[in-house]
Amino acid sequence: MATAIKPETVKARQPTIPATEPRPHPQRRPLGPLKTVHVFWLAGMSCDGCTVSVAGATNPGIEGLLLGTVPTMPKVLLHHTVLSVEYGEEFIQPMKDAWEGKLEDPYVIVIEGSIADERIAARTGGYFSAMGSQVTEGADESSPVPTATWISRLAPGAAATIAIGTCATWGGIPSAAGNPTGSMSLMDFLGKEYRSAFGLPVINIPGCAPQGDNFTETVFAVLLFLQGLGPLPSFDELGRPSWLFTESVHAGCTRAGYYEEGIFAKNYGDPECLIEIGCWGPVVNCNIVKRGAINHMGGCMDVGGICIGCTMPGFPDKFSPFYKEPPGGIISTTMSRGVGMVIRRARRLSNRHVGTEVRWDKLKAVPSGWGNVRTATLSLKFVELFYKKWQFWGAKEPGRPKGTEKKFWGGDRPGTKNDYLDDSSTIEDTRDRH
Ligand code: SF4
Ligand code: SF4
Repeated sequence: MATAIKPETVKARQPTIPATEPRPHPQRRPLGPLKTVHVFWLAGMSCDGCTVSVAGATNPGIEGLLLGTVPTMPKVLLHHTVLSVEYGEEFIQPMKDAWEGKLEDPYVIVIEGSIADERIAARTGGYFSAMGSQVTEGADESSPVPTATWISRLAPGAAATIAIGTCATWGGIPSAAGNPTGSMSLMDFLGKEYRSAFGLPVINIPGCAPQGDNFTETVFAVLLFLQGLGPLPSFDELGRPSWLFTESVHAGCTRAGYYEEGIFAKNYGDPECLIEIGCWGPVVNCNIVKRGAINHMGGCMDVGGICIGCTMPGFPDKFSPFYKEPPGGIISTTMSRGVGMVIRRARRLSNRHVGTEVRWDKLKAVPSGWGNVRTATLSLKFVELFYKKWQFWGAKEPGRPKGTEKKFWGGDRPGTKNDYLDDSSTIEDTRDRH
């Protein structure tokens, strides 16, 4: 379902910005065309896995976005703790400029990692995650600026605010039960009323780590919108790109055929459906087996892994303990075993029926040098009889009309014999005659 966008007052939550600091300058601008866009990549409670994923994106790759070579796209100036060559004050200055409204071009912020409740760390004079440092009023020395503070400063003026990875989108592992940091998602941090300077709520691209292409494709679609060249992409009620996260993993899984026929893996490394050894795919929204992890390669089930629900808001607590069959799986596998037993046998018969040439059927032999191929059993003949009748019910069977074959196929020419239609022929007979 597409989300209705209406510009509203931004209410960034904690931590509050001291009155002595400059206020954010929301850049409310008309849509495009844009020549250049700054992207500030802010890292909270993260492992940098999202950065690694995005570096491997191919459709489009970040090189194209950074070089400005992707048609219709503005050039992206990326400010990233790992990828930028600037450091220290030179790295922080553009962030300050953006905060103070001095940046000439619009900017987007991307948050990787969850946002810690810095008030907890501040009680003991510390911090959980920070970028740069500053001397605060009344202090002799500079102290780190928490990432949470940078988000509060930059989110109101950002053209778009994007949470990448499950830590930023839903809190993820740093916010799991028992965590000491009070970590939360960007949505929780900014609140329901948040809108970017261009009127967008937080855009969420979950995954631990997410597919790089899911990110670059969404950024591409949003930039097209900001350029005034495309419609607002469709997002679901949780701000996920709906064309990427509507379907379940199961719907695109390469093992779903086994599930349907009631055949399940007992051990890791088995080729069948993994549900009985802990896969949550049927109830998880994720496109990794359709798209692949990087450059259309890999993806959890494709490489033997179960789905642990890493794209979902309930991850990880609602999916633990990992590697144990989900409770709902017991019901569905029992049912699919029952149905699958019948379907499987019927399909095997059908498979044998369509697995022989029409000519072999007539000659009742298969000229394979690889091994002996069994000719039709009584049960197969029985199935074929009904199968064929059903298949061509109300339709035209391929070939000549019945009774006219000889007229068209040399059988009525003087001195010729139609080997193919003579049931008494053998493979040897036909070979000899050619
Ligand atoms: S392995 Fe998981 S996602 Fe794939 S078919 Fe089985 S239950 Fe579905
Ligand atoms: S298949 Fe499951 S574990 Fe794998 S990326 Fe998707 S949600 Fe995460």
